Amino acid sequence: MTARCLIAGNWKMNGTLAEALSFADGLTALSNDGSSGVEVALMPPYTLLHSLRSVLADKGVQLGAQNVYTECNGAYTGSISTAMLKDAGCKYVILGHSERRNTIGEGNALIRRKLDAVWAEGLVPILCIGELLEERESNHTNDVLKAQLSILTAADADKPLVVAYEPVWAIGTGKTATPEQVVETHAFVHEVLVDLGADRQVLYGGSVNGSNAQQLLHSAGVDGALVGGASLQAASFMQIIEAAK
Ligand code: PEP
Repeated sequence: MTARCLIAGNWKMNGTLAEALSFADGLTALSNDGSSGVEVALMPPYTLLHSLRSVLADKGVQLGAQNVYTECNGAYTGSISTAMLKDAGCKYVILGHSERRNTIGEGNALIRRKLDAVWAEGLVPILCIGELLEERESNHTNDVLKAQLSILTAADADKPLVVAYEPVWAIGTGKTATPEQVVETHAFVHEVLVDLGADRQVLYGGSVNGSNAQQLLHSAGVDGALVGGASLQAASFMQIIEAAK
């Protein structure tokens, strides 16, 4: 059964082993059996997947990765495969994060190949989409989101997928979309997904924290959050999980 709400923490390129173990210690009060309808997942750097696997499983927290390569194995120095992520205990894989689209130059074609690789291994992709500030200001948000979702086809309708709407100008900036922008944009994303064959859980991402989570998570069309900075500390991550319940 799909949980009503997913709270996923993206550590990006942050976290030593000592910090990860201290974070895990800080989750003492958390025991997520899913009965509240909230699923929790954490995407630490690859180096911490094995160390966090059992301690997170004990808390009912799913493990995920921040990226993956398209091939199963072979001469791809520095890359990680979906089989390796599955072996490490991952359920989720983030794809198309704006930092990979805009800093590393990943485009729709590569992200589509990664989607296929993730599905082939039985993992669940979290596909990130979002507009730049100039795209919002020039009224191109919907066009951008539609183009980013155009890698999906009706043939994908029965494959597991979570979408994360993350306005790029709200990521790591302390700015969040207004409640009106969130409701309006999530409604549009759900509509496009239905047109493409299946509605999906749509998370909001962009400077979600313990103070704004309650309002964002209970907005129409918001089915959870992808959390960057505030997921690095157990206390703030737990506040967001609590706000989701
Ligand atoms: C993210 O990394 O996807 C993100 C939303 O980061 P932050 O919460 O720090 O804005």
